[in-house]
Amino acid sequence: MDETLRELYQEVILDHYRHPRNFGKLDREARSVLGNNPLCGDRIEVHVLIRDGCIEAVGFEGTGCAISTASASMMTEAVRGKPVEEALTIAKKFHDMITEGVVTSDLGSLEVFQGVREYPSRIKCATLGWHALRAAIEQSQDVVTTEAAE
Ligand code: ZN
Repeated sequence: MDETLRELYQEVILDHYRHPRNFGKLDREARSVLGNNPLCGDRIEVHVLIRDGCIEAVGFEGTGCAISTASASMMTEAVRGKPVEEALTIAKKFHDMITEGVVTSDLGSLEVFQGVREYPSRIKCATLGWHALRAAIEQSQDVVTTEAAE
């Protein structure tokens, strides 16, 4: 990756880490799922309010590294106001970019995370908030963890 581009991406990630967007609980009843990444110590709880098939509001809380926090922050911006199906599509494309290096133009500013692919131990940080979002949408679990208990 181009050095200037890499620095720009790092700046965007650090900005979201220092000033996370949509941080906090929602003021109305929301679905909440805690994402836990014990390998890094990231704990990100995602709150989602779904109405008429759209993500009316979304927020997150918790503590994590720069990658997990910035990813959750940018996730909330990417999916807020979107139909649920579209949010799930974005989540899948984000996952494909991080794990397979497939970058599509509709990812927008989320492409700043494409460099994470070069650091396999950080992939779970980058996808944690997205896993929690998906679980909240599907209302399948209250807690998701990157390390499956077997
Ligand atoms: Zn992390």
